[in-house]
Amino acid sequence: MPTAIHHFIGGRLAAGTATRSAPVFNPATGEETGRVALASPADVDTAVAAAKAVARDWALTPPLRRARILNAFLRIAEDRTDELAALITAEHGKVLSDARGEIQRGLEVVEFATGIPQLLKGEVTENVGTRVDSHSLRQPLGVVAGITPFNFPVMVPMWMFPVALACGNCFVLKPSERDPSPALLVAAWLKEAGLPDGVFSVVHGDKEAVDALLHHPDIAAVSFVGSTPIARYIYATATAQGKRAQCLGGAKNHMIVMPDADLDQAVDALMGAAYGSAGERCMAISVAVPVGEKTADALVARLIPKVRALKVGPGTDPESEMGPLVTRVHRDKVSGYIDAGVAEGAELLVDGRGLSLQGYEGGYFLGGTLFDRVTPEMSIYREEIFGPVLAITRAPDYATAARLINAHEFGNGTAIFTRDGDAAREFAHGIEVGMVGINVPIPVPMAFHSFGGWKASLFGDHHMHGPEGVRFYTRLKTITTRWPTGIRAGADFVMPTME
Ligand code: NAD
Repeated sequence: MPTAIHHFIGGRLAAGTATRSAPVFNPATGEETGRVALASPADVDTAVAAAKAVARDWALTPPLRRARILNAFLRIAEDRTDELAALITAEHGKVLSDARGEIQRGLEVVEFATGIPQLLKGEVTENVGTRVDSHSLRQPLGVVAGITPFNFPVMVPMWMFPVALACGNCFVLKPSERDPSPALLVAAWLKEAGLPDGVFSVVHGDKEAVDALLHHPDIAAVSFVGSTPIARYIYATATAQGKRAQCLGGAKNHMIVMPDADLDQAVDALMGAAYGSAGERCMAISVAVPVGEKTADALVARLIPKVRALKVGPGTDPESEMGPLVTRVHRDKVSGYIDAGVAEGAELLVDGRGLSLQGYEGGYFLGGTLFDRVTPEMSIYREEIFGPVLAITRAPDYATAARLINAHEFGNGTAIFTRDGDAAREFAHGIEVGMVGINVPIPVPMAFHSFGGWKASLFGDHHMHGPEGVRFYTRLKTITTRWPTGIRAGADFVMPTME
């Protein structure tokens, strides 16, 4: 019997008023393990009202006290990481070690946010004019919303809410309806850590709930992570409603392999970056660009046996290197891309289709897949596949490889493997991508830097977490002060200057 998955509103679980729900599956078995409530606009209203009721008190809570609550949450989450990781694996499918890694990377943002008293310190100038002083400070926005994808059900919400809460905002999270349960455990731990009821709520749902958030007059800002068409829609709709928005979209991350690269290192990096989490990472490498035919031939020869040897299995098996895909629909979509690649003339070197595992016949598994001689017109090159499919696109020289990346619609992450400092510097300087790795295949910035891509991978002006996160979740106010002894008698009708 599937478990009923409720919202978390005003500090407690709530069934909500909607009659609609969606199935949640264990991707390793195909079993329907839960049914998640899909919020109605009235449910969204209730969550926003609960937040609004406490927003002023929370904004007035001293930053150090807010930081202490986040610190208490951090300790709970560190002590019980395995419980949260098990929930991620049960609904997402990724291997447990990867689920633990996602939690750790998310908690690093919590650690960053506990420094909020320092981060919120403003600027002061004494004597901007004679006996006149100015200071600038950052104030919270009010109630803000986060809409997140299935692929990191804990880490991506943690790119948002720790900084939002630390800055003094209330937060309404709308997680992916495909793996909704981890968000509820996070909500329960925040409450246990001392977060006042209403400051953080979880509303499950689909487009109806999202639209209700986007049109809600009491939502001041929207953070979104997901696919590019939805990111574009959320950005356009939220900003048309006068809201602040940061919307991160899809990716097609290339890794250039230069002729002087350490090929063994490059191959190991590609294996993890292309097939880790079954390729369902926005920073996965999905295109390898070896420079020169000799490099390409050597790379392919090393990759083939490793891709064939990938250990695919349930995420709960410590032997598994790669788990299933998130849903049957998504697995079939990725499989369809492999069909398309063959039809378009790419050379299929390792075929992951049709994989069936004994005892897990109902699971959404797909083996690691490798294509060679993929060209820029092919759909498997242009579009995000979001599965364990690596394309090799051969380039005759560095300039051609870099042009490929700069011409691509997406600009999330990229990497170069080389020993040549000049090439690496040229790459870092000239490449039109938001996050760049030099001999680092998945250059996800640490929590105290900010995360975000360029081009169709991000709509908005701010990246997430780090200093950009603090700017996004606060508004700047500048106060200019003069006390009576500094005030000259008589009205002044010219443009005020500080002479
Ligand atoms: P998705 O766009 O389908 O869903 C993301 C969120 O939007 C979910 O909460 C979903 O309920 C909601 N949503 C879906 N359709 C909607 C609609 N029509 N109107 C309003 N809301 C809607 O993405 P996904 O499949 O859950 O996640 C995978 C995608 O996320 C990939 O494209 C991946 O690249 C991207 N992603 C990007 C980053 C990044 O940092 N740029 C990080 C993680 C994932």
